[in-house]
Amino acid sequence: MLHGRPEPRGCELVSVCALIAAAGSGRRMGAGVNKTLLPLRGRPVLHHTLLAFDACEDVDEVAVIVPPQEADLARELIRGWGGLSKVNRVAGGGKTRQESVLLGLDCLDPGCDIVVVHDGARPLVRPATISRVIEAAREHGAALAAVPTTDTVKVVRHGYVAETLDRDLLWAATTPQAFRREILETRHRMAAREGRVVTDDAALVEGTGIAVKVVCGEYDNIKITTPEDLVIAEALLAARSRLAGREASGLRGGGIRVGVGFDVHRLVEGRPLVLGGVNIPFESGLKGHSDADVIIHAIADAILGACALGDIGRLFPDDDPTHAGVSSKVILEKARNLAEMAGFSVSNVDAVLIAERPKISKFVPGMQRALADILGIPEGSVSIKATTTEGMGFIGSGVGMACYASCSVVDQPLASSTGGSTDGS
Ligand code: MG
Repeated sequence: MLHGRPEPRGCELVSVCALIAAAGSGRRMGAGVNKTLLPLRGRPVLHHTLLAFDACEDVDEVAVIVPPQEADLARELIRGWGGLSKVNRVAGGGKTRQESVLLGLDCLDPGCDIVVVHDGARPLVRPATISRVIEAAREHGAALAAVPTTDTVKVVRHGYVAETLDRDLLWAATTPQAFRREILETRHRMAAREGRVVTDDAALVEGTGIAVKVVCGEYDNIKITTPEDLVIAEALLAARSRLAGREASGLRGGGIRVGVGFDVHRLVEGRPLVLGGVNIPFESGLKGHSDADVIIHAIADAILGACALGDIGRLFPDDDPTHAGVSSKVILEKARNLAEMAGFSVSNVDAVLIAERPKISKFVPGMQRALADILGIPEGSVSIKATTTEGMGFIGSGVGMACYASCSVVDQPLASSTGGSTDGS
């Protein structure tokens, strides 16, 4: 028990319990800690998730399933988090998600008759979505939130396309998923006996004579799996909080914000020199995990800064081998996408390269074209300048180059939700 039993509503027994699965190892996150405890806009991912369930008036109790060795720590942490009144159990999970949900079912209140299962790593779930799934489960016995697939999905065997699936029939399953308790318990115990392994709870109920109702979820109810997902989640939360602020104040956007960026790279022999997206003939090049384009790095940081979305070190960690040698144009494009996801559009950028040699003036028009193209703004809104340090310091002696950049973004009017709200059929 954590906060003690909630007050019964009249003489009713508790009827809707949420099971939050937060026992995953988070290997793809590579953070060495439970990924649901990583910070997201000032509070742990799991805290965001629990706040959504606490705010859902159809949920009576919340149980959290964590790795067994983290149960004491999680209890302690959750007790210290604000705004939670419904979390009353923290239990140790099993080796797989399926095992964890089964262990979670064992610790639920006997009076619970609807169980909502949700991934702790989906912090952007909306209380209204949880309510819709619960309502559908009350009526149909089993329901899940899903979104129509936007990608074309191929069946691939041995590296070759075997089949293209009909996209009109494809939905991507998310959580929350809700079930009448006896249905979920029976199927989980049956699967455990048979050694049947599935990747979501609805799969245990499908094909057993009980139809699983599909409720339209939201595209922004993303699962935090990689470090990049955390940055995307921050952009989405930033957009939501600005929207809420605007609704409260009656403002409609159109404000201008500015950000600054700064970067330094060392010059080494045997590397190409890439500046502002352009290859420059020179005797040495900048050293870095990516192509080390110091101008683009400073500009990308200025864009993220204008939107208060952190920095490119989080987007492209230099210990991630998948980013080795990546073109910095990809970094810039990602920064633009994140800014737009958060409701901003880049208005102009200005950069000043600090380098003793080479002279870059004849390459500047090419850089302006390349960067304007990626940012979707006119070439006249991209400014690239250069200066030396007159022979002084590490730049003057040719050890490295640096770049300062600034960026302004315009605050765009926002839609109130990225997902639909009608039932899927
Ligand atoms: Mg850099």
